[in-house]
Amino acid sequence: MTDPKTNIVQAGIGIDPAHASVAPPIYLSSTYVWPNPTDKGAYDYGRTKNPNRDILAGALAELDGGAGAVVTSSGMAAIDLVLNLISADDLVIAPHDCYGGTHRLLTHRAKQGRIRVVFVDQTDAKALEAAMANKPALVMIETPSNPLMRVVDVAAICTAAKSAGAISVVDNTFLSPLRLKPLELGADIALQSTTKYINGHSDIIGGCVVAKSEDHVEKLAWWANAAGVTAAAFNCHQTLRGLRTLALRLDAAESNATAIAEYLQTQEAVARVYYPGLKSDPGYDLVQIQQSGPGAMVSFEIKGGLDAATAFCRSLEIFKLAASLGGVESLICLPETMTHAGMAESARREAGISESLLRLSVGIERESDLLADLSESFAAIS
Ligand SMILES: *Cc1c(COP(=O)(O)O)cnc(C)c1O
Repeated sequence: MTDPKTNIVQAGIGIDPAHASVAPPIYLSSTYVWPNPTDKGAYDYGRTKNPNRDILAGALAELDGGAGAVVTSSGMAAIDLVLNLISADDLVIAPHDCYGGTHRLLTHRAKQGRIRVVFVDQTDAKALEAAMANKPALVMIETPSNPLMRVVDVAAICTAAKSAGAISVVDNTFLSPLRLKPLELGADIALQSTTKYINGHSDIIGGCVVAKSEDHVEKLAWWANAAGVTAAAFNCHQTLRGLRTLALRLDAAESNATAIAEYLQTQEAVARVYYPGLKSDPGYDLVQIQQSGPGAMVSFEIKGGLDAATAFCRSLEIFKLAASLGGVESLICLPETMTHAGMAESARREAGISESLLRLSVGIERESDLLADLSESFAAIS
């Protein structure tokens, strides 16, 4: 069997039956000609099935080691899609520090009476055990957490979910299957916002759900078609193009992130660094056990409060002030006023998010240039 890194480069290459193009063509057609009225071809309607979506789904399913994948119009569509696997009033357990969009979706689906939800600190074994005793139907897992990069034991939570009779779902957006393989660690479902590392170029919104069982794949594909949340052909084409270089991009970004985290630790103006690739980080040991790398997201607290944090962001030139992650370019964000502004201030403080916490999505630029950009900004605000 060829290596996954080879497979994602090769997916869909040289399969064009019409003109033998090396790169797969984009099939924009919304509908397809039937050979006769009682016999449709492989494709009939674009919402249901599309060749570009199928190539991408095949590559993503193989990368995660699943029975199949459903490619959706966004990461949020992927998360909402898996909620179709449970019934009204079923209980969902989610991390208390999960992605803000996930928190909003689950909270409001619960307000509508579609599901019940409890948010739990999944690093707290007692709290998790108590939540599991309430017989959840679905357990959501996210690692590392955002923005504090807390690492949770995926295998242990999946085992607990299984004994409680729940479906375990890992949002693997921050790491990708090249750093953490949820299905191998016991999860039933791995999902991602492909907007981030999978596409990697900050130019499409997308998502995917990979399931271990054929049964889940069938149900998810049925709902994706029924609700119309499948991704557009162009976005799938673009995402497959990005996916081909995932291994190279992640290696480069992670190596830069490690250098940056080590540099930040030495800075007088930095109160604390959060990066599970550092030996001093509480997540370091778990990363060695369950991951093939710590990823490329780094957070740190700057001394001097919100004013210092704001001034630091404004002084940077290479790091752009924006609220996404996983692209080739380096970004910085201030969770206090950006990604986590929707949270109540007290909830932010309780979650450990201070007003001077900064989050970096480290890109693949030259390490020396990124370090120089940071050090010039420290000098500018001191
Ligand atoms: C971005 C993100 C999402 C949502 O994905 P979209 O593609 O923006 O809809 C979900 N989970 C995590 C962890 C994310 O970072």
